[in-house]
Amino acid sequence: MSRDYPLEKVRNFGIIAHIDAGKTTTSERILFYTGMKHKIGEVHEGETTTDWMEQERERGITITAAAITCFWNPTYMPATDTSKKVRFNIIDTPGHIDFTAEVKRSLRVLDGAVVVFDGVAGVEPQSETNWRYADEGKVPRVCFINKLDRMGASFENSYKSILERLNKNAVRMQIPIGLEENFKGVIDLLKLKAYSFEGDKGEKVVEGEIPDEYREEAKKFRNEMVEKIVEHDDALMHAYLDGKEITIDDLKRVLRKTVIENKIFPVFTGSALKNKGVQLVLDAVVDYLPSPLDIPPVVGKDPNTGEEAVRHASDEEPFSALIFKLQSDPFVGQLSFFRVYSGAVSAGSYIYNSTTGKKERLGRIVRLQADKREEVQTVYSGEIAAAVGLKDVKTSHTLCDDNHPIVLEPIKFMEPVIAMRIEPKTKADQERMGMALKRLTDEDPTFKIKSDPETLETVMMGMGELQLDIMVDRMKREFNVEADVGKPQVAYRETIQGEAEAEGKYIRQTGGHGQYGHARLTLRPMQPLEEGKKIPKNVKRYDNFEFIDSIKGGVIPQEFIPAVEKGVREAMDRGIVAGFPMVNVSCELTFGSYHDVDSSEVAYKIAASQAFQDAAKRAKPVLLEPIMKVEVVTPEKFLGDVTGHLSSKRAMILGVEDRGMNKVINAEVPLAEMFGYITTLRSMTEGRASYTMEFGRYEPVPNNVAQTIIEARK
Ligand code: GDP
Repeated sequence: MSRDYPLEKVRNFGIIAHIDAGKTTTSERILFYTGMKHKIGEVHEGETTTDWMEQERERGITITAAAITCFWNPTYMPATDTSKKVRFNIIDTPGHIDFTAEVKRSLRVLDGAVVVFDGVAGVEPQSETNWRYADEGKVPRVCFINKLDRMGASFENSYKSILERLNKNAVRMQIPIGLEENFKGVIDLLKLKAYSFEGDKGEKVVEGEIPDEYREEAKKFRNEMVEKIVEHDDALMHAYLDGKEITIDDLKRVLRKTVIENKIFPVFTGSALKNKGVQLVLDAVVDYLPSPLDIPPVVGKDPNTGEEAVRHASDEEPFSALIFKLQSDPFVGQLSFFRVYSGAVSAGSYIYNSTTGKKERLGRIVRLQADKREEVQTVYSGEIAAAVGLKDVKTSHTLCDDNHPIVLEPIKFMEPVIAMRIEPKTKADQERMGMALKRLTDEDPTFKIKSDPETLETVMMGMGELQLDIMVDRMKREFNVEADVGKPQVAYRETIQGEAEAEGKYIRQTGGHGQYGHARLTLRPMQPLEEGKKIPKNVKRYDNFEFIDSIKGGVIPQEFIPAVEKGVREAMDRGIVAGFPMVNVSCELTFGSYHDVDSSEVAYKIAASQAFQDAAKRAKPVLLEPIMKVEVVTPEKFLGDVTGHLSSKRAMILGVEDRGMNKVINAEVPLAEMFGYITTLRSMTEGRASYTMEFGRYEPVPNNVAQTIIEARK
């Protein structure tokens, strides 16, 4: 076996942005410049419709594919010299706020990112959220300030907003020549050269001298850049202080290292729409973003021993891979996208799914390109590809060599905050709906389905109205399901704020085989795990629940303890305050008893469930509601009306800032108060204000409000 491409020439990266910053346009340009796509679709001309689903259908494969492969020859390599050619695997990261979980998911498998900013708005709320996620994942980034051709664009202000709101270690690598309609090109501060982009689609990158009027400025900013780079290398720092000239190669070497270490975030600029600057960003991806060899080895657990296990990006190590996205493809059916972390895997082989413990045959493997699917025989470490037709896999599952099993850390998804009833129109729709919902929930782990225990209706749950609307629309178009939907509802939760103990007994002894279950539980609010602390053997910890088995001397036999846990979980799902699922509970099983003949799983389940309900009622139970982070942009003259209205919606106003001619209000508002907000906001501001919103956290509902919700549920 040998790999088709040296690993140091692979870049797995994503493009992340606030919606509308130009991610789609930039991706289109990348596919064009990398020679895979021969026609540029303009978003604003309607050729790329803003409706991404329609878009996907019309193009077969598109930029919305979970991962797409293309090749880039850095700008100053002659086309015949392919020695520097690099393979890009571009991983899709959705821009809309309802899909932040998707961004998180993709951040797990990519090694670096290009963050696109709108040159008028600068840093926007979504850029901040995504930036934070990237920080958590230690993802190296290069920034691209886009749209410099737009009215009101400012490289300076956008750059400043990055420094102030994201990271003070952002370093400008370029400055623009002209702005707005006079935006002509960029000056590269490293080389001190000017670049313009000629030809129909800016495909010809032309290097020239810096225009006179920019010389001073370029020198000044170059010094600033050099200082920020040499700071990270003692030898260069000394040379610099001694007044020596630092070579471009040295600067690039240190910059690459520091970008990979998340210590510097280089900033580039241009206009994707006007075909300016994108190629130089691609060069930066090659120069500064890591290859799979540059990132730390992946960590998981050996499922047999529970010990930590590590896999390096080497073809010699045992095979391990993570499924990061299921996506239906109009031509080949379901695709399971995976990233190989170590070893290699070939089409036709049997693979072990260590998450489920099942083996499955890997049929075909494909790699998606802009206009075709390339059949792949073997996928090596560090690479990304998609398997066709795997049946028993889900997002976040680990595939591996069954002789060397490992379970990679699963991707964590947010729990849904919004719920909506859905009712099929006819019997035939009902049948199709089941299939459709299965497919859609497989594809998007933040989209969930449950059936209301009282009404038996199907309830869809997700991260926002838009996401649920899209699901309903997709059901209609892709699966031919006609359905009525209810109003969006808040997905409340419940938790406890205090400690309580209770005992449950389920004993039926009326001759013959009886029932005997007896358990004593202590409930407490679940505490976050301390950094570096190991989870004791008798504790089972889940995202929202912890079960501690403190049974001594076998007063409850081992075999019945899972039944106790199950009874507790079922009671948690039913809730205690108003029938919403409970979260963040730590439950300790402290005592109980058993009967040689009569004890059964069912009896322990019932006893545990009784004990739980009894204790939960006394452990200060509360209702929790999602609090959203809201940003409203409005002309100043409506500021008073907008903030006044927000305040009447239980909002907490965090601050008001200027942005160009507008005011920006940052607030935290309960989701329950935000339904239909766009209509109110428009009518209040003659249609001139806009807002964005994303999930912040769950918080207890104030008492008076809680009473209304509880009444309504009765
Ligand atoms: P996305 O939501 O981040 O994928 O953004 P799109 O690529 O769909 O772009 C949103 C809108 O901004 C579209 O109308 C684009 O035509 C426009 N746009 C994208 N890049 C530029 C740019 O560089 N300059 C200008 N003036 N408009 C742009």
